[in-house]
Amino acid sequence: MFEIAIMLLPVAAASGWYVASKHYHSKEKSSSSEHDGYFKGLNFLLNEQPDKAISVFIDLLEVDDETIEVHLALGTLFRQRGEVEKAIRLHQNLIARPQINQQARSNALNELGLDYMRAGLLDRAENIFLELEKDTVFRVHAVKQLLSIFQQEKEWQQAIDYTFKLEMMGAGKQPVLLSQLHCELALLHKKQGDDVAVRNDLKKALRIDSSCVRANVISAELAVEKSDYKHALKLIMAISKQDKRFIPVYLNLILTCFDQIGKPKAKFNFLADLQAGNDSTIVMSRFIDVLVEQKSSKEAATFLHKRLLENPNQGYLRLYAKIGDENGDTESSFLRNIIQNFEEKPISFECKNCGFSSVELNWYCPSCKQWGTTKPVVV
Ligand SMILES: [Zn+2]
Repeated sequence: MFEIAIMLLPVAAASGWYVASKHYHSKEKSSSSEHDGYFKGLNFLLNEQPDKAISVFIDLLEVDDETIEVHLALGTLFRQRGEVEKAIRLHQNLIARPQINQQARSNALNELGLDYMRAGLLDRAENIFLELEKDTVFRVHAVKQLLSIFQQEKEWQQAIDYTFKLEMMGAGKQPVLLSQLHCELALLHKKQGDDVAVRNDLKKALRIDSSCVRANVISAELAVEKSDYKHALKLIMAISKQDKRFIPVYLNLILTCFDQIGKPKAKFNFLADLQAGNDSTIVMSRFIDVLVEQKSSKEAATFLHKRLLENPNQGYLRLYAKIGDENGDTESSFLRNIIQNFEEKPISFECKNCGFSSVELNWYCPSCKQWGTTKPVVV
């Protein structure tokens, strides 16, 4: 309550100034109803009735070129405090006044657009910024807001168009954003069964940003759906040149491809190379599986024993307990059972921009709203 009273002080001051200045300029006695209104407003404020105080002050301040700034400042304060309905009412009221000039109207319209965005009324915000896009002063700002709105509405083609528009206005290239938008469009076209469009979208995504891991992943998953495992393997292996950290994330997909095309030796060599330069438990786990499968449990245990001495960690210990000697004494069997029950850590992800961590891969960070900033954390 104290906070809103502080917030209203500039309005109260402006109302007082307004009543006094009218009196000074007209050299006449200001009408007693204006004075009454001003003191009534102050009274509500002192009695901690801010809603009533607001109504009185707003009625008191005629909307004209001198007071528009006070109205706009109050509206912004309402929105910042989360009182969006009040901000909307105030800005709508401003726009409806015929006496305000074009620039003031555009200012109020912009504020109303921001109110609607804050309230999640995206259709209304979209209409406002489409109108403001025609105003040279607000053009760049309006295009930025529309780009944000189209992304929230999942209108991917329009988001792409507006990213280009922003680039043309000199806002700089945005390859990561554009390639991610093309990936989203590809997924939409996939749902619609338009394979030609999907291929085009993914080609564009890679042309704009050759390091777009996601474009290769979508292509590989599409090839798997069509049982073209050879092509899928080629596509998914390309991500090792883009960003090696993503290989453990798609390891099961890669291994399925090797199995489906009947290349056990190539699968073994791939995992042997991968584990040599990687501390990931997931990678080690798959390599141990293939060692047991293609060599022997004993060989796998010996290998893991050596790796545990070099790099003691809980993940490797758990794997070791799983393949350990079944004929140990009671004590070692007991320990093995306990260690096997250690929780397996899933791959986790972290946004390099804001540090948001999750167990899901978000191509769009829900925290800082940036595309392509989330990377796997080695576990
Ligand atoms: Zn983030």
